[in-house]
Amino acid sequence: MSRTNLLGLDLKGLEGFFAEIGEKPFRARQLLQWIHQYRVVDFAEMTNLSKVLRQKLIEKAEITPPIIEEEHLSKDGTRKWIIKLSCGNSVETVYIPEGTRGTLCVSSQVGCTLSCTFCSTGQQGFNRNLTASEIIGQLWLANETLGKQPKGNRVVTNVVMMGMGEPLANYKNVISAMNLMRDDLAYGISWRRVTLSTSGMVPMIDKLREDCHVSLAISLHAANNKVRSEIIPLNDKYPIEELLEACKRYVDVKQRRHITIEYVMLAGINDSMQDAKDLIRILKGLPVKINLIPFNPFPNTDYLCSSRNVISRFQKILTDTGLVATTRKTRGDDIVAACGQLAGEVQDKTRRTKRIAEEKTAVF
Ligand code: SAH
Ligand code: SF4
Repeated sequence: MSRTNLLGLDLKGLEGFFAEIGEKPFRARQLLQWIHQYRVVDFAEMTNLSKVLRQKLIEKAEITPPIIEEEHLSKDGTRKWIIKLSCGNSVETVYIPEGTRGTLCVSSQVGCTLSCTFCSTGQQGFNRNLTASEIIGQLWLANETLGKQPKGNRVVTNVVMMGMGEPLANYKNVISAMNLMRDDLAYGISWRRVTLSTSGMVPMIDKLREDCHVSLAISLHAANNKVRSEIIPLNDKYPIEELLEACKRYVDVKQRRHITIEYVMLAGINDSMQDAKDLIRILKGLPVKINLIPFNPFPNTDYLCSSRNVISRFQKILTDTGLVATTRKTRGDDIVAACGQLAGEVQDKTRRTKRIAEEKTAVF
């Protein structure tokens, strides 16, 4: 019988596990602290559990974090970890320090099925969803590696689900991991500091609203369906109007829950003054912050980033109407750790990489 990896179980999951082995639910709370706050992986060291229970856990369970295969350190302090997974795949996790804040960019899938044309992960194809242990394991490893920080002195203050993969396409595991991020017995990070970014899976945005209180970022990237469908194929299924309706439902004025709109700046594609005006028009009435992301290049892409002048003019048009718009600082590009550059090692199970290669050859 295989042993259960307790690392990825949130409070409910752990309570279920203890019920199954005939133990009281409060054990779950003790385990959460041992695993996530003290980072103890050996049941024998869990001194507030009886010897009999410790032995039972040794037989039935394990606490196995993923393994860091490589670490790359950028000149700006950003760190990229390559996390080795079973079956030869790897994903990437990025740590971005800035002042008193430390943001961890977490991956949710090995590759991605959604093939956005401007994203390196999207061009890699897809292998599988990460397990909840592999997702929360990235935060566990970051805290472990950055120094054994006691609670209250965490190095990771913010988490963004913006690494490899579409988090809402791996819903159950991402929710367990985010529950752990939020739980005071585990990492205790406020909902404002846990952000999920999605390319726009409308039904799952509605589900998220019910299931887990976190901040939401939407990869909008275009102000009309023609351009958006060209760069985000998912837009054919969930066009801009439906996506923005879901955003309206997500926003909760009472809880001051707002949305961040992400907009990647692609030269000649979505960066005209008309695009800025269209963006203002479609976002009217929605409490949003806009985050312009300079496009980060990767091998074999034909896209170019908009010039600095174009980006600041675009931003000014937005801010002149009273919208809050910022431009994301590019971090870690010297170690290929910037937004959209994460590729890991994906043994593609779809035919995408092959098809893209064939399409490229067909053009020439
Ligand atoms: N799948 C999710 C989260 C991962 S991508 C999503 O699409 O939202 C995190 C952010 O980086 C998204 O806004 C994504 O559109 C953006 N991104 C992808 N490729 C990029 C690139 N090459 N340069 C800049 N941003 C990119
Ligand atoms: Fe997937 Fe997000 Fe990249 Fe699109 S931008 S391919 S959804 S990871």
